[in-house]
Amino acid sequence: MAARSRGVEPARGRVTGEKRGCEYGAVCFSHWDTKCRRCCYVVENLPHVLRSCKPHARAWQLHHNTVQDHLVRVIPAAAGEISVNCTIPGCESQMRPNIVIMNEEAKKVVIMDVTIPFENRHQAFTNAQARKQEKYTLLADTLRGHGYNVMVDMLIVGTLGAWDPSNESVLHACCVSHCYTKLTRCLMVSNTICWSHNIYMEHITGHCQYSDPTR
Ligand SMILES: [Zn+2]
Repeated sequence: MAARSRGVEPARGRVTGEKRGCEYGAVCFSHWDTKCRRCCYVVENLPHVLRSCKPHARAWQLHHNTVQDHLVRVIPAAAGEISVNCTIPGCESQMRPNIVIMNEEAKKVVIMDVTIPFENRHQAFTNAQARKQEKYTLLADTLRGHGYNVMVDMLIVGTLGAWDPSNESVLHACCVSHCYTKLTRCLMVSNTICWSHNIYMEHITGHCQYSDPTR
């Protein structure tokens, strides 16, 4: 690649810039400037653009909601009563898990969050899972004290389209059929890649690449 060209190498998820040998994923405007063009953070790289650059916060939220809504749609009614971003009745905790499936008959509760980390290392998935387990420990213990069998789970899709293998068991816990599990994986991954592309293009061009239902 020419020394002053700028482009994307999808196979490595790396954005190249005018400066040769720049940090992994860095987008460089000039030989000296590596600052983010939108928020002036010290390094403008893919993890920053896709997960940390605040001007894209609305896009992250819409992307997250899209994945979450898709998951809610594929959970069958037989799994139990589904609540989204709500506190759990009977618990003092004001925490609002993304999705709660409560099956009173089976005395079973599934507490679930959706997360979309930047997956430059597998550790990103492990860390995300650990954080959520810890976050809901007290809430889960309270529900267990009320006689429920409680599962705390996490659906994880990487911003570059990686699918956490443990998502299969998460969908199984939500009573999603094997057929829908495969379809859900394909749709969520392609949707996530599309959102990341839109965020990246908005970052580069300054033009919004998605429609916001609140505007
Ligand atoms: Zn930024």
